[in-house]
Amino acid sequence: MVGTRSYWGWGVEEKFMSRNHRENLAYAFASLFGRNTGENFQVDVRDPIDISQIDIPDPRVIPAKSIKDSISRSPQDRISHCRGKSFIDVVRSLHGDFTDVPDLVAYPKTEGQLVDVLDWCYSQDMVVVIYGGGSSVVGGVNCPPRESNKAVLVLDTSRLDEVEQVDRQSRTAEIQAGAYGPQIETQLKSHELTLRHYPQSFEFSTLGGWIATRSGGHYATNRTRIDDFTQSVRIVTPRGTFETSGFPSSGAGLSQNSLVLGSEGIFGVITKAVMRLQDVVRFKETLSVTFGEFSNAVEAARALAQSGLNPSNARLLDETESFQSAGVKDGKSLLIVGFESPVCPVATNMACAREIVETFGGVVQVPVKPSDSTPLPENLSGAESWKSNFMAAPYLRDAIITTGNVAETFETSITWDRFGEFHTQVLGDVRKFLDRECGGGVISCRFTHIYPDGPAPYYTVVAPSSHDDQISTWRAIKEMVSQIIVDKRATISHHHSVGKDHAKWYLDQTSEFVVDSTRLLKNHFDPKGLVNPGVLLG
Ligand SMILES: Cc1cc2nc3c(=O)[nH]c(=O)nc-3n(C[C@H](O)[C@H](O)[C@H](O)COP(=O)(O)OP(=O)(O)OC[C@H]3O[C@@H](n4cnc5c(N)ncnc54)[C@H](O)[C@@H]3O)c2cc1C
Repeated sequence: MVGTRSYWGWGVEEKFMSRNHRENLAYAFASLFGRNTGENFQVDVRDPIDISQIDIPDPRVIPAKSIKDSISRSPQDRISHCRGKSFIDVVRSLHGDFTDVPDLVAYPKTEGQLVDVLDWCYSQDMVVVIYGGGSSVVGGVNCPPRESNKAVLVLDTSRLDEVEQVDRQSRTAEIQAGAYGPQIETQLKSHELTLRHYPQSFEFSTLGGWIATRSGGHYATNRTRIDDFTQSVRIVTPRGTFETSGFPSSGAGLSQNSLVLGSEGIFGVITKAVMRLQDVVRFKETLSVTFGEFSNAVEAARALAQSGLNPSNARLLDETESFQSAGVKDGKSLLIVGFESPVCPVATNMACAREIVETFGGVVQVPVKPSDSTPLPENLSGAESWKSNFMAAPYLRDAIITTGNVAETFETSITWDRFGEFHTQVLGDVRKFLDRECGGGVISCRFTHIYPDGPAPYYTVVAPSSHDDQISTWRAIKEMVSQIIVDKRATISHHHSVGKDHAKWYLDQTSEFVVDSTRLLKNHFDPKGLVNPGVLLG
C-alpha cells in the first residue's frame, strides 16, 4: 500500500480530494440541486479532525503478559479499528464520534498467537470483533456501544498475509486470511498465476473478509464470487480449530465450505484457505454499446447472460450512470461487454455477443479490434473512462460526505421476471422521497453482475442534505429501499453481506429453519456469544 491509511474514510489520505476540490464539488451539487448559489451562498465543507486531537476513554483491561506482544493499546489503532466504511460509519468518523472505541487491538502474526488471544478474551468474557481490511459497509466490524459492560478487543488479521504454498500442477495456493488483494496478486505473480478476484474494495480488503462475506468480484458472469475459488478453509473458533476438506469437487455429505463461507465471523476466525487459481489473462477485448432505451439494454443483458458466452464483463449503466461515469450523452444507456482468456483469442465470442446486443438495438461505440496479438490493449471508449471512475468512486463518496450531502449505494439481485416492476418501484419511490423530503436528488442504476436467471442491480442515490440531517436522510432512504427489496423478493444483499445493518431484513426473508440452524452452530462454536455479536443473526 502506498500512502497513509485513512483512519476515518476510504483508502489512503494522499488520494483524498483536496479541500479546494471539495468546495467546488459542494458548489456544483448546490447548483445541480437548484439551490440559490448567489453572492451570499456559502459551502459547508468539513474536514476530518486530526487523529491526535480525538479524545477517547482509556482501555478497561490490561492484556495478559502471554499475549502482550500481539496487542496494541495505542489511541491511533483503537480509533482506526472502531468501525467499517459504510456511509454512516464515515459520517460518524468524520465528525470525531469515537464513543464506541475498542479497548484493545490485537495483531497476531501466527495462528498460535491468534489462538492465545482468542482464548484470553474468552477467559475474560471480552467481546472479539474480527477485522480484515475493515471495508465492511454493513456494520460487520463495528464495535458494540461502550455502555455495554464487556470490554472489546478488535482482532486484526492483517499480519497473517503470506501466500504459503503454491501448487502449480493443481493450480492452487494456501493463502493466509489477512492478505490484502494486492499482496495476494503480487505474491502469485512470480508463479504466473492469479486469484483473479477483484471486488471494488480489492486494495483494502482481505481474503478472510472475502470468504467471511462471500464477496462478489468485478467479473460480471460465470466464476466471480469468492466461493468459486475456495477449495478449503481453516477456521479458529472458541471451541477449537477445524479445516474443511479440500477436493476439486465432492458429493460426500453437506458442503463443508458452506459452514464458513458467509459466516461473517460469527463462528470464529478464518486463518487460511486453499484457493483455486487461474492463469494470467493474455487475450482481452472490451466493447461499449449504447442503447436509446434502458429496457432494450436490459433485454440485451438478459440475452447475453443466457447465451452461455459468459462475458467476463457485462456492466449495464443506465442513462444517468453512463453520463456521470462514462461521459455518454443524449440519455443513452451503456452496456460494457468484455471477454478475457489466458489461452485463446476472444474475437469469436465478442462477435457473437455483438450480434446479440445489436439485435436489441445496441449501437457499438468503437469497433472490435482483432485479437490475434498478445496482449491486446482495451479499446478506448466509454469502458475505459468508466473503469477509472469505478476505482475513484469510494474517494468521491467520502468527499460528498464532507459536503454534508448524502451518497449511498444499494445492491441486490432479483429474477428477470420481477426486475421490471421492482426497478420501477425503487426509482418511483426514491424520486418521490427525494422531491418531497430533500428538494431534489438523483438515483441511478447499473447491473454489476448478470446471471441466466436474473441481474444484480446496484443503485446509487445522491441527495442534498446538511451536516445536521445527513444521517436521518440516509436512514430514511436506506429503510425505504431495503423494505422494497424484501417486499419484492430480491435479496437484501448480493455482495455487501448482512453484518449488523441488514440483519433485520435478512432474518425477515430467510427461513426459520436456516436461521435456527445457524444459531445452533453459533452456540456450538461460540457458546458465550462473544465473537462478532449482533452480526448476521441480529
Ligand atoms: C468502496 C467499497 C467497495 C466495495 N466493493 C465490494 C465489491 O465489489 N464486492 C464485494 O463483495 N464487496 C464490496 N465491498 C464490501 C467489502 O469490501 C466486502 O464485504 C469485503 O469482502 C470485506 O473484506 P474485509 O477484509 O475488508 O473484511 P472486513 O470489513 O474487515 O470484515 C467483513 C466481515 O467479515 C468478518 N471477517 C473479516 N475477516 C475475517 C476472518 N479472517 N475470519 C472471519 N471473519 C472475518 C468481519 O468480522 C466482518 O463481519 C465494498 C466496500 C467498500 C467500502
